[in-house]
Amino acid sequence: MTVVPAADRRFEVSMPVVVIGAGAGGLVAALAARAAGVDVLVLERDPVPRGSTAMSAGLIPAPATRWQAKTGIVDTAELFAADILAKAHREPDAAVVMHLAETIGPTLEWLADAHGLPFDVITEFLYPGHSTYRMHGLPTRSGVELIERLCAAADAAGVMIMTDARVDTLFADPDGRVRGIGVVRPDDSRDEVGCGALVLACSGYGGNPAQVSRHIPALADALFFGHIGNQGDALVWGEALGAATRHLSGHQGHGAIAHPHGIQITWATITQGGVQVNRDGRRFADETRGYSEQAAAIVAQPGGIAFTIFDERIGAVARGFEDFRQAEAAGAVLTAATIPDLAERIGVPVANLTATLCAAEAAQCAKAIDAFGRDFSRAPPLVPPYRAVRVTGALLHTQGGLVVDTDARVLRNDGTALPNLFAVGGAACGVSGSQASGYLSGNGLLSAVGLGRTAGRVAACAVKAERVPHGDDAHAG
Ligand SMILES: Cc1cc2nc3c(=O)[nH]c(=O)nc-3n(C[C@H](O)[C@H](O)[C@H](O)COP(=O)(O)OP(=O)(O)OC[C@H]3O[C@@H](n4cnc5c(N)ncnc54)[C@H](O)[C@@H]3O)c2cc1C
Repeated sequence: MTVVPAADRRFEVSMPVVVIGAGAGGLVAALAARAAGVDVLVLERDPVPRGSTAMSAGLIPAPATRWQAKTGIVDTAELFAADILAKAHREPDAAVVMHLAETIGPTLEWLADAHGLPFDVITEFLYPGHSTYRMHGLPTRSGVELIERLCAAADAAGVMIMTDARVDTLFADPDGRVRGIGVVRPDDSRDEVGCGALVLACSGYGGNPAQVSRHIPALADALFFGHIGNQGDALVWGEALGAATRHLSGHQGHGAIAHPHGIQITWATITQGGVQVNRDGRRFADETRGYSEQAAAIVAQPGGIAFTIFDERIGAVARGFEDFRQAEAAGAVLTAATIPDLAERIGVPVANLTATLCAAEAAQCAKAIDAFGRDFSRAPPLVPPYRAVRVTGALLHTQGGLVVDTDARVLRNDGTALPNLFAVGGAACGVSGSQASGYLSGNGLLSAVGLGRTAGRVAACAVKAERVPHGDDAHAG
């Protein structure tokens, strides 16, 4: 990944807006740029656009939406922004947080109205840290549906998507203006494309072990459960162009990846009253702090393994999610009629497991806060038959990145914006701060979709205002 001086390089083909990466961030940026009336080229390294987006549940938080209003949920941008900042220990840029909180609702409604994405709001359970029900999803609650619908919308809107196209070079002027990009194809052939503005939507560095070891040592040996194409390219280019970076240790972990099945188990298993025990049959943390910080807690347990234990009432809620249904079909979800039976099935000492579950039940009955700080008053005690899944902790995606302003423009260390560079989603510094515990559910797609729309719109307006040469004019250099 390099940045090469553009000098007097001429590009045979040039586009007003070029987007690197066809995840949610890149596709929404492209749709927004098209809506603003300019041509867009999206370059995607994979044969089919998928990204982390396709691996997600596709759930996007948004306040004050018409879907919330229909179900009587009262919510505001201010309340949402306060939740984000509280979860992230007030580390993120408050202006960017407020911008996202104010624009994400209208953005989801625009995706529904202009591009036919049938969102609704999830009211089955409350995600940790959210004051109210504001997670929006598509009918299957899957990121595959999100990416497929965005691809179809992009196709219908005339967005050009070039797949099997890994960008490995930016051509830039000394002041940081990007003049074009270089692409390498699977057969090692190369293409170059000029651009008026460049949107980095190629996500974070979770798929790059060296960068993970450097920035998130606690998860250096953890499973990476995100998209392997997230190699940190945006970070390398941004730094070479003089961009500021922030909160590089920030990330979303997940403390419930079925192991060895490799299927994400919904955290509703915990919020509804389930617990996690280690190989010794003992609990080791307040699971309800959040699934993100629970990842490192599990990695630190013997063998890096834990068991999520719940019951059939909770299983019925979890079954609303495609991933959980897949986990059941794959045999990852065990059933046991009694605690001794459960201990035997998961291979932990029966005395320890009995003591652990009895203590949890006592705390639930007494509505007490336990030694780890968990408030058990929010859910009824577990009742047999029990369910259990063997899980490990994983890194899902990184949340630190290039510092952007409320126009999604990439900023230098002195706070000035690079001339024509934008970053969205995992490529940008998100709103989760520097710790795993700062991740509020939905922050990932919030900054992909929210910043995506902003970047596409602002980039399109900028190239129109600057009359940046493209198409046939590009031959002028
Ligand atoms: C298992 C899992 C569950 C999740 N669940 C949720 C959820 O429910 N809600 C939520 O908000 N977030 C969730 N997230 C996080 C969310 O998926 C990401 O934050 C979001 O998808 C990031 O979008 P993006 O467009 O920035 O990146 P991506 O979707 O990862 O897309 C980036 C694209 O860029 C491409 N690319 C990379 N480098 C290059 C290059 N050099 N040239 C060309 N192309 C390149 C990649 O191939 C990829 O297709 C989850 C993540 C995972 C892994």
